[in-house]
Amino acid sequence: MIDLHTHSTASDGSLSPRSIIELANKIGLKALALTDHDTVAGLDEAIDAATGTDLILIPGVELSAKNEKGSLHIVGLHIDHENPRLASGLQRVLDMRNERNPRIAKKLGELGMHVSLEDATEFAGGEVVGRPHFARVMVDRGYAKDPKDAFTRFLGKKGAAYVFKERLDPAECIDLILQAGGVPILAHPDQIGFAGEDLDAFVGQLVGMGLKGIEVFCSSYKSHLTTQYTRLARKYDLVRSGGTDFHGALKPDIKLGRGFGSLYVPDELLEPIALASTGTCGNRTHPARY
Ligand code: AMP
Ligand code: ZN
Ligand code: FE
Ligand code: FE
Repeated sequence: MIDLHTHSTASDGSLSPRSIIELANKIGLKALALTDHDTVAGLDEAIDAATGTDLILIPGVELSAKNEKGSLHIVGLHIDHENPRLASGLQRVLDMRNERNPRIAKKLGELGMHVSLEDATEFAGGEVVGRPHFARVMVDRGYAKDPKDAFTRFLGKKGAAYVFKERLDPAECIDLILQAGGVPILAHPDQIGFAGEDLDAFVGQLVGMGLKGIEVFCSSYKSHLTTQYTRLARKYDLVRSGGTDFHGALKPDIKLGRGFGSLYVPDELLEPIALASTGTCGNRTHPARY
């Protein structure tokens, strides 16, 4: 069993990279990819924690891209996380966040809530500060009953404290991952606002930009989606990937490796993904080729 989509305290998860590795070993995962939003800051710790254990640690990242329907997420696996161009791309993404965050805090203040940027930053712990951190502070202070409520009423697109965030183009995300030797993979295609023929055509466009994989397993899928996305993988010659999108206590219903309980991502996905990478992924704890 493997899990190729997880988040740590480096972005909006609640467990440190080291704790995720320990948990992965405890539940007997064969491989784990750490794919924090917009940052590779957790990877050194994850690689260090996995060294000397049986776990195959795959360095990853998850980037948000804009599209006409809102946003889509591209996961990069087997990236060289020390790649300088990737670093400067991630810095640009961080600048876009840092432009938005004070404006979210200001709007919350105008709505009468005592939730400052400092509060959210302290809660976040890492360099990536986002709406989930504001949401948690709001829950702690009694302004929302849970994170979902905070998004629905305030932070989400229709909420009273919503602030637009600039994002990279899908082509830029794919290119950043490719030039860092990684495998660009369309994350949870059920969440991008396209379905059926439209999704098929959109995936075709992404393939033209260099997309190499698609998540055919995810906690949120009903079983017919795995079938549908597996068909897309075959049609466009994409490698299949999958994971839970684990966030620890920030999404408490999702368990590492198991999702809502019945997810099973098979080991057989590992080798084709590794073979689709072109670099050495800067990770000395496992061979880039299986
Ligand atoms: P940001 O990157 O700061 O714009 O925050 C986006 C993140 O917020 C997503 O990756 C989700 O994890 C989380 N999120 C978005 N919508 C909701 C929601 N309705 N309830 C809980 N979390 C959400
Ligand atoms: Zn997340
Ligand atoms: Fe995502
Ligand atoms: Fe994710």
